[in-house]
Amino acid sequence: MDMDNIECVSTDEMLMMEDDDLINHHHHSNAFPANLFNNHQNLSKPHHKNNNNDGSNNINGALLGLTPATSVHELLECPVCTNSMYPPIHQCHNGHTLCSTCKARVQNRCPTCRQELGDIRCLALEKVAESLELPCKYQLMGCPGIFPYYSKLKHETVCDFRPYNCPYAGSECSVTGDIPYLVSHLRDDHKVDMHTGCTFNHRYVKSNPREVENATWMLTVFHCFGQYFCLHFEAFQLGTAPVYMAFLRFMGDEADARSYSYSLEVGANGRKLIWEGTPRSVRDSHRKVRDSHDGLIIQRNMALFFSGGDRKELKLRVTGRIWKEQHSPDSGVCIPNVSQ
Ligand SMILES: [Zn+2]
Ligand SMILES: [Zn+2]
Ligand SMILES: [Zn+2]
Ligand SMILES: [Zn+2]
Repeated sequence: MDMDNIECVSTDEMLMMEDDDLINHHHHSNAFPANLFNNHQNLSKPHHKNNNNDGSNNINGALLGLTPATSVHELLECPVCTNSMYPPIHQCHNGHTLCSTCKARVQNRCPTCRQELGDIRCLALEKVAESLELPCKYQLMGCPGIFPYYSKLKHETVCDFRPYNCPYAGSECSVTGDIPYLVSHLRDDHKVDMHTGCTFNHRYVKSNPREVENATWMLTVFHCFGQYFCLHFEAFQLGTAPVYMAFLRFMGDEADARSYSYSLEVGANGRKLIWEGTPRSVRDSHRKVRDSHDGLIIQRNMALFFSGGDRKELKLRVTGRIWKEQHSPDSGVCIPNVSQ
């Protein structure tokens, strides 16, 4: 047994929880490299692309876009926000198009010509879009998929090659990337502890466990079986009861997460709580896993009992183990979701 002894003191870790589900997906709409469209009617002259996503320079970009002959996919790019347009696509009296999100924001003025916008749909462009088939925007990351224009977006939200969100909980972090990138990001930018090995012995110490601890959380990354796992530990309010929770997330997709199991143990004074489970994928947000109670939950009273002493200090020793399952379990595994 090689167990490394880690001590983590979490007294300063009182950052606000974020809502993981609200993390922005800041993907640029650079989905359609021009050279991929040679088999569609590509009237392309020099490729004008307004790469500006913040809206500040869009008017210029839109005017440039008026110079003749752009390819079909460029026509389907909203000149204001540069995202792909989906029905209803709108246009002004002069024929300038824009997406419905932007239409709602421009107060009835065409951003291109400043004329009144009105309420005109551009059915022709919507129909053209319908006839297109486009590669997934993660093609360069390895996705071979080609999709009808209107189902492409849906695919991209579940594409296996899409980047992962940063698994760090507790601060706004919009970083996305592949797993190796996120591992170095966690280490370098979030100063997360990294440990190698499939067993661990982790100590959580908190000096004033009676405070409101809704915002306390900790993250440690484990590296074993050539994979990375995030061990989360946090305090939160479950109904009216303060609890501590520890759970593991797998840095990869859910299908691969199912090849692993883990156990967590905490106890003292002849009592012990044991949790055994399958790590959740980091595709599931930290908040989602927490709210589904998919991990070791320790009532505060029990946690203080395990801490020994005068109950003024939280001192929990969590031991754990990760192992690889011999055979892959059924694909129809159901993930508990008991949140109220
Ligand atoms: Zn737009
Ligand atoms: Zn206009
Ligand atoms: Zn894809
Ligand atoms: Zn981050």
